[in-house]
Amino acid sequence: MGQPTWPRCACCGFRTGCNTCPICYWTDDGRSEAHAEAVAGSRNGDLSLADARLNYSIYGASTPRYQHLVRPPRDDERP
Ligand SMILES: [Zn+2]
Repeated sequence: MGQPTWPRCACCGFRTGCNTCPICYWTDDGRSEAHAEAVAGSRNGDLSLADARLNYSIYGASTPRYQHLVRPPRDDERP
């Protein structure tokens, strides 16, 4: 107990529990691991989950466009 049980962000892995993650700005579109490479007309536009993860590792945001919008993760959001 005491540990938050928010769902983990599919992109950055932190437990933000938000529709659009404040840490990487990925918007949860219910995409599963099996479709990480898929680029469907989703809420993330033409961005695939695999690309978003790569961008996060480089820019700290799911796309460089959102670099100024993101914030660092809090301790209680760590997986
Ligand atoms: Zn995230």
